[in-house]
Amino acid sequence: YYTELQRSEKLEIISQLAASVAHEVRNPLQVTRGMLQVLGQKNQSKPGEDDFYQLAIDELDRASVIVTDFLGFAKPQMENVVELNLAEEFKHVQGIIVPLANMQGGKLEIQMPKSLCIMGNSSKLKQAIINLIKNSIEALEGSGVVRVWAYEEKQEVVIHIADSGVGMDENMLERLGEPYLSSKSKGTGLGLMITIRIIEAMRGSINFTSEKGVGTEATIRFPSAGTFQQTSVGA
Ligand code: ADP
Ligand code: MG
Repeated sequence: YYTELQRSEKLEIISQLAASVAHEVRNPLQVTRGMLQVLGQKNQSKPGEDDFYQLAIDELDRASVIVTDFLGFAKPQMENVVELNLAEEFKHVQGIIVPLANMQGGKLEIQMPKSLCIMGNSSKLKQAIINLIKNSIEALEGSGVVRVWAYEEKQEVVIHIADSGVGMDENMLERLGEPYLSSKSKGTGLGLMITIRIIEAMRGSINFTSEKGVGTEATIRFPSAGTFQQTSVGA
């Protein structure tokens, strides 16, 4: 039998190993991609022939996405936990996600009061929120709206992410967070698993409601910054 300490030490070693492998694999992928691009421009494929260069680049991009998602998976521990102002965090999130929404179609409405604060790691929080909003944008399939809003309730900060997208059936809803669960041709099925881990590591929780053909709503709760400090002193 493993003691709790042995178990967490083992996890820590696996995490670090995975993170360094992911980091090392990304560089050769990038170099190969660059070379394929140059070759592809030099040797235009003949009409009727498949563009093997582009196919190869697409596959490399797929590998990159998987590696990136695992990098998030590899480091769930909350290094560098500080007080985060949600309005500021969401300003950065918006900078990344608005261009994506513009490209894929659909509207994004974010309403964030300036006063909400939680404890956490900034880049992990952003990774989690971006994963969720990205899923919502993808669910719109070109038209509809994603609304994001937040408030404080009973010493908790509550964030809602709601979309008018394709929705999910009961079975899918129950399985959310399972690794490799994806309904998308280019999905990794790792996004939500990582997102849930990040939120839980920040002492938060996430719940989904969804209806097929109507839309999906994620509700995330975090202890608000003041409450978090009180409970962690006692722990
Ligand atoms: P991926 O996006 O790579 O498929 P995720 O872990 O992010 O993997 O999501 C897993 C699956 O959950 C998606 O493929 C999709 O079927 C479903 N899903 C997640 N979010 C939504 C949403 N907002 N609307 C509809 N389906 C969703
Ligand atoms: Mg996703």
